[in-house]
Amino acid sequence: MKVLIVGGVAGGATTAARLRRVSEDSEIIIFEKGPYVSFANCGLPYHISGTIKEREQLLVTSIEDLRDLLNLDVRANQEVLSIDRENKTVTVRDLLNQRDYSESYDKLVLSPGASPIVPPLPGVDHEGVFVLHNIPELDAITEWIETRQPKKAVVVGGGFIGLEVAENLVELGLKVDLVEMMDQVMAPVDYELAAEVHQHLELHGVNLHLGDGLKTIEIGQNSPLQVNTSSGFELETDLVILSIGVRPNTKLAKDAGLEMEPRGHICVNDRMQTSDPDIYAVGDAVQVNASLTGKPTFLALAGPASKQARIAADNIAGREATFKGVIGTSVVKIFDLTVASTGLNSRQLKEAEISFESVTGHDNNHASYYPGAAPIQLKLLFGPQGQIYGAQAVGTQGVEKRIDVIATAIHGNLTVYDLEELELSYAPPFGSSRDPVNIAGFMAANLLRGDMEVVQWDQVEQLDPDEWAVLDVRYPEELAVSAIPGAINIPLSQLRSRIDELPKGKRLAVICGTGKRSYFALRALRQKGFDAVNVNGGYKTLNLTHRNNNAMKQVENSPAEAAAQAVQSTGIEYSLDACGLQCPGPILKLYKKVNEMDDGDVVTVTATDMGFAADVGAWAKSTGNSLLALDVSKGIVTAQLQKGLAQSMGTASAGSQPVPTPGKDLTMVVFSGDLDKAIAAFIIANGFASLGQKATLFFTFWGLNILRKPEPVKVKKNLIEKMFGWMMPRGADKLTISQMNMMGAGTAMIKGIMKKYNVDSLPEMIKTAQENGVRILACQMSMDLMGIKREELLDGIEIAGVATMAASATDSNTHYFI
Ligand code: FAD
Repeated sequence: MKVLIVGGVAGGATTAARLRRVSEDSEIIIFEKGPYVSFANCGLPYHISGTIKEREQLLVTSIEDLRDLLNLDVRANQEVLSIDRENKTVTVRDLLNQRDYSESYDKLVLSPGASPIVPPLPGVDHEGVFVLHNIPELDAITEWIETRQPKKAVVVGGGFIGLEVAENLVELGLKVDLVEMMDQVMAPVDYELAAEVHQHLELHGVNLHLGDGLKTIEIGQNSPLQVNTSSGFELETDLVILSIGVRPNTKLAKDAGLEMEPRGHICVNDRMQTSDPDIYAVGDAVQVNASLTGKPTFLALAGPASKQARIAADNIAGREATFKGVIGTSVVKIFDLTVASTGLNSRQLKEAEISFESVTGHDNNHASYYPGAAPIQLKLLFGPQGQIYGAQAVGTQGVEKRIDVIATAIHGNLTVYDLEELELSYAPPFGSSRDPVNIAGFMAANLLRGDMEVVQWDQVEQLDPDEWAVLDVRYPEELAVSAIPGAINIPLSQLRSRIDELPKGKRLAVICGTGKRSYFALRALRQKGFDAVNVNGGYKTLNLTHRNNNAMKQVENSPAEAAAQAVQSTGIEYSLDACGLQCPGPILKLYKKVNEMDDGDVVTVTATDMGFAADVGAWAKSTGNSLLALDVSKGIVTAQLQKGLAQSMGTASAGSQPVPTPGKDLTMVVFSGDLDKAIAAFIIANGFASLGQKATLFFTFWGLNILRKPEPVKVKKNLIEKMFGWMMPRGADKLTISQMNMMGAGTAMIKGIMKKYNVDSLPEMIKTAQENGVRILACQMSMDLMGIKREELLDGIEIAGVATMAASATDSNTHYFI
């Protein structure tokens, strides 16, 4: 059998190699119009920056190797011009000497791929305007870079190739503007995930022009070129890369009369056979079935091309093999981020008129206590019966693993209920006992079982205030970065005791940092008769989508402004490792450190939560400190802050506290000795302190137990005092929760959960409060009544009477009794 193959890269070379393995005696000829076969187009962008150092590394296999190892006749620089189906021949042009010849076939395989679209706009043919799809195009770009030493580049198109090119140009030291017609980059993912990419691109200095198109390219006045955008930007540049999509190379097939779909792809059956049974087609040029909708689609990716090639080869060799269709699974690296998706996104589901629900989680890639843990934003889209329609994820580590698991689940027709049960590998450096995939399954199943209802980020602003109230269950410390206007703020830990403060007769949109604590709140509220729904993805998702698309401005300007505003340096520098903590963890840790520092001291903080990069500037601003530098590299955010701002700025003095807001101090009477109430008291106090406000806690009666030292202290006591001492818990570690204690199981659970989410234990919170200047008073009278001696209390506690507490209360406008 004589088999001709048109196209010698992904689909073509794979077809030939597979065919040889199943048909030793076939004569196989590959025609490739370019000078190279079997090269790594997926690696092209990485040679621009030198990440893939040697150009030769991209040439995966040589013509000689294909001949020697597989007995293939590989002909480069040979373009197939036409197909004569009747006589089963093709006409080929040898591009080196412009000689045409014909070759007969028994079977013909078309894998001509797709070519970059060059829009018919003025100036696209100027020198210095490039596309990137093959080795000669790569050579042209690298030569331009070597000879012209460009400083600026414009990339048109925010798909995966455009983003990879932008990243590699930045790596090379160029200042990059990226122009994208849609309001987001990365069309396969929904806006909230793309928003994280926008933020990340800006952090790496890419200047985004979203919702803007290329209008013209002209010769620049000060630079070789000027890109004019539809919205009126005039971008002087040294280099332009067009990356606005691809068009299938199917003129050959069309001219041969093969059946085509309207957008120009070749129609094939599930054996990759065209309308002519002796002609097969694979790769970017063909139309395939979308497994999830059953409808025709096309997908220009290497994975499907290579699988289709194997199927075509098997069928040619007389074997039975069918292509089941594509799900649409892809992954891309964008600086430190991995963005991956599988299946259908919201837009595609809406277009296909498929009703769906979605849940979004922000869970760490592995156990948060193991160094380097980093969050993944994972969105799962599913149907009413639990059918999995798609998933998308963004993060710095472990992203593609989760998407691949879900892609496998889709392939196997599993449901969200199966995701709950999937037994996935776990050890602290790799995952968690409840993997983000399991958690996505839990959330989806919770929703389908009616345990949870969600409102999406883009619906929150549209909620009718007459019908809805927003309940924010984050801690006060978290509000220092950003509060939600008009929201009721009751931290989760206080929700049960303050449930009466919630408006009756209104639906509650409950929000927290990531959607988890709000779910816990929602469960409690629903069981108490409230109509509560969860804000999907929490504040993190809301913040990403509402941030204006110029986060870089803040990052860029802040350090420069800050340097001008900074107080005189003391020359003392600290470093702080907040890696593995999810926001607001790094902010809280930073706050604590800043409090220990003197004005003018500098701290360098590292964190793995990319959200920290976005939040730290806002935090520094609201607390009167200076963000000197911000860098994101290798998945680590590094921020450098100097304590204090110069007097001349009229904000904070070079004082020891962040900018205080006068008259907003807190006085709290802590009467209860219950663990949960004590935790709430210290969370509130630390929150106030973190905002630069004074907090005074007055411990009386059972509350005094919180302040007891854990170890017995030898003091003189009478019998009654001794009995009291024996019966009462000794210190913060011995307290139990007020409700659902369940012989200690409830208390252990709370402690376990706090540990898991990196929430400080109560003794640590007390220590933090003391370090943050929270004034802790023990009521003299209660101590006398209960026989508690000064020596039995923690160090640093003031013994005071009611008058001291009353004086403090006069200066405060927030008073709590716990
Ligand atoms: P190609 O691999 O493009 O091969 C087609 C070949 O046919 C071409 O070399 C062309 O010269 C030749 N040809 C066309 N017409 C004729 C003719 N008449 N006669 C002779 N020869 C002809 N996919 C991924 O899954 N992951 C990635 O990370 C990824 N990154 C990419 C990065 C870049 C820069 C590019 C350009 C593509 C990337 N892709 C990626 C897409 C992937 O490379 C394609 O989906 C895949 O190569 C398609 O295989 P194909 O055989 O259909 O086409």
